[in-house]
Amino acid sequence: MKYDEALAKYEPVLGIETHIELGTASKMFCGCPTGFGAEPNTQVCPVCLGLPGALPVTNHAAIEGIIKIGLALNCEIVEWCRFARKNYFYPDMPKNFQISQYDEPLCVNGFLEVEAEGETYRIEIERVHMEEDTGKSLHVGGATGRIQGADHSLVDYNRAGIPLVEIVTKPIPATGEKAPLVARAYATELRELVRSLGVSDVRMEEGSMRCDVNVSLMPRGAAEWGTRTETKNVNSLRSVERAVRSEIERQAGVLSGGGRIVQETRHFHEDTGRTTSGRSKEEAQDYRYFPEPDLVPMAPSREWVAELKASLPELPAARRRRVQAEWALSDLELRDVVNAGAVELIEATVAAGADAGAARKWWMNELSRRATEQGVELDALPITPEQVARIQAMVAAGELNDKLARQVFEGVLAGEGAPDEVVAARGLKVVSDEGELSSIIDRVIADNAAVADKVRSGKVAAAGALVGAVMKATRGQADAGRARELILEKLGAS
Ligand code: ZN
Ligand code: MN
Repeated sequence: MKYDEALAKYEPVLGIETHIELGTASKMFCGCPTGFGAEPNTQVCPVCLGLPGALPVTNHAAIEGIIKIGLALNCEIVEWCRFARKNYFYPDMPKNFQISQYDEPLCVNGFLEVEAEGETYRIEIERVHMEEDTGKSLHVGGATGRIQGADHSLVDYNRAGIPLVEIVTKPIPATGEKAPLVARAYATELRELVRSLGVSDVRMEEGSMRCDVNVSLMPRGAAEWGTRTETKNVNSLRSVERAVRSEIERQAGVLSGGGRIVQETRHFHEDTGRTTSGRSKEEAQDYRYFPEPDLVPMAPSREWVAELKASLPELPAARRRRVQAEWALSDLELRDVVNAGAVELIEATVAAGADAGAARKWWMNELSRRATEQGVELDALPITPEQVARIQAMVAAGELNDKLARQVFEGVLAGEGAPDEVVAARGLKVVSDEGELSSIIDRVIADNAAVADKVRSGKVAAAGALVGAVMKATRGQADAGRARELILEKLGAS
């Protein structure tokens, strides 16, 4: 069913579960390293392989990380809680259970405010709990990389046991046609928040942040919520938005045709922007949860929690309010800067000495354009805020004009070195030295005697050719207006 038609008939209710891998040096319950991209099965030990007799030990840094996330999400940090075993069989989970938390999560009852198209939504957080990641299966031989049609499967346990924080929202009602945007705004804000805490690199493309999106529909005006589906592991912000939209359209089609929504997990396909059916959703009882007998309960002291709370950095929402005031941005300008991921880059450029207006101009125009051309995020460009500030300092000092500055950016991005090296190697300084400009003009007059005579005899318009010759001789680095004045002066035509 078309989106507008679906929204006219039904009201969507959202729920979002997000898994975030913490960037700790070692795994959740053992000392194995956690680096991404290592050779398969080289970062494993008896504990994370679930070998008989191996015992887990809780990673202190991971608990610190999840408490910071809980506090930043305005959660209550409980005084006492336990880990639980979540039992299910999956080849990439060597113990055949995941150590997670069930009815005693560490952080509860928080909220996160997000903005979508100028409106603020308060997303209630039900819980934030600690668990461990699974390994990864690789299905070989099929066309799609999925298990269907594959010849065989390989398993990499490097990821098994990496600390994983799960953040679960309460149902999010009353977002109407903005539901897909609100879902995306929530994922975006959550990513920014966690990144600001420095506890995870939150890279959706590498799987260190993964969203599962629950969607249900109810007829407009109905009191009871419909059956929800859960679209798993949506791995980009844009896909979060698309998955919600596509699921609303699909469910509306099923419901208005008299069908029923089946409670199930679904897979989102990047190529088609559609979801397909996965497995029918387990109920909690299917997992046979029970308290993890190999680990002591967690009882974070109030002093420790207070210490962590005091250590929280400025959070993104507060930072946005501050920079908006400091840089005198309109709401729209602020949104552009935020959406471009440029807040920190501009801040660092200002800290390195540039004024805010110029710093914003370079990052939002020249550098954003180049990032788009190369298909990378702004912060992935091979240029530092300090280098941008250095180029801007040369502009402010009159040593470079904007046109030359753009050539310096080009050189730095091409790996030709620091701004000063690019300026020297490419010979990019504005010719502001009067003596140098004067001798270049003398040479141009001598080389173009016939034109010079015309100017002397009063044909001032002919001076244009001489100015052009000066600009050519200086490769565009002279001040053309000043060159013209000097030419006319020298030829007695001023
Ligand atoms: Zn291990
Ligand atoms: Mn989980």
